[in-house]
Amino acid sequence: MSELKTGTFSVSDLENVQINIGSIVGAIEKTAAEEGEVGLTVKPNISGLRDWDYKLLERYNPVYTPMCDQCCYCTFGTCDLTGNKEGACGINMEGHNAREFMLRVITGASAHSGHGRHLLHHLIDKYGADYPLKVGQTNIIAPNVQMVTGKKPETLGDLEGALSYVEEQLVQLLACVHVGQEGEAIDFESKAMHGGMLDHVGMEVSDIAQISCLEMPKADENAPLSEIGMGTIDSEKPVLLVIGHNVAGVTNIIDYMEDHDLTDKMELCGLCCTALDMTRYRTEGGDVPKAKVVGTLAKELKMIRSGVPDVIVVDEQCVRADVLREARELMMPVITTNDKIMYGLPDRSEDD
Ligand code: SF4
Repeated sequence: MSELKTGTFSVSDLENVQINIGSIVGAIEKTAAEEGEVGLTVKPNISGLRDWDYKLLERYNPVYTPMCDQCCYCTFGTCDLTGNKEGACGINMEGHNAREFMLRVITGASAHSGHGRHLLHHLIDKYGADYPLKVGQTNIIAPNVQMVTGKKPETLGDLEGALSYVEEQLVQLLACVHVGQEGEAIDFESKAMHGGMLDHVGMEVSDIAQISCLEMPKADENAPLSEIGMGTIDSEKPVLLVIGHNVAGVTNIIDYMEDHDLTDKMELCGLCCTALDMTRYRTEGGDVPKAKVVGTLAKELKMIRSGVPDVIVVDEQCVRADVLREARELMMPVITTNDKIMYGLPDRSEDD
């Protein structure tokens, strides 16, 4: 039988025939070319997958964390929700805790997609919207983006649509937190699952954009490893510590160090995701990482109080609120580089 690429055929008259289906060739690509978006639930709205969420929630019990028996979400509060009490708006403890949980989910998703938007702006500005996405050997460049939005992104500019969808949905979810909106726990839980799905899209946009543009390893099982731990830092050299999640600013530091022959003369180290991502910067093809990883958020105070860093640079997410106060105790300069964390410091962007 010749290869069938698309369409249908009837098997109702066949008897005692075994049919093996190897692969369905070209059907998805053809539909995508004709219709632009492919899938059963393309870009679902906040209730688009509600039936499916209900099925999952029938099978699996949600766990709320943290639990809170008071609410101060509006100016009627603070309301005591203990026992069988309700808030002035009528919400009960179960509903409020499901709402709290959903808020935690969309706060995290916003942090990730806010980072993604910042990074995408920066990379499109630098490399252009037509810059191709390059993530290594795969037929599926962006599994989350493709599954949720029904579109296969090919360029940096193609990621804008996915991120715009995430941003719109996050606004709709945040609106549900307001007093006088959703009241039932199960629908907050369903909305929390929607927020989790959006989070995966936002995170994927961030990572495939930086993998494509910043010469990070691409599907490379032999990607170079970096040194990790406070013990790897040579405190005899000047030490620059970066903390956060957004590698964009640190790429400028690494480039500056190389341009001025400083790479071996100073230590660049980091805490949290910025640390991981800066060790991936320009290591495609096996180049040695240009920085070291100190550890996670949990090591921030220990590293600062060790007195080892000479300068601290922070960007966004997982940066302790007291970094400036702690660093000030030891006379360490702190530079904030992202408008999500400014610590009340003067803006010196235009200094010579
Ligand atoms: S949202 Fe409801 S429970 Fe919360 S403070 Fe306002 S009235 Fe009270």
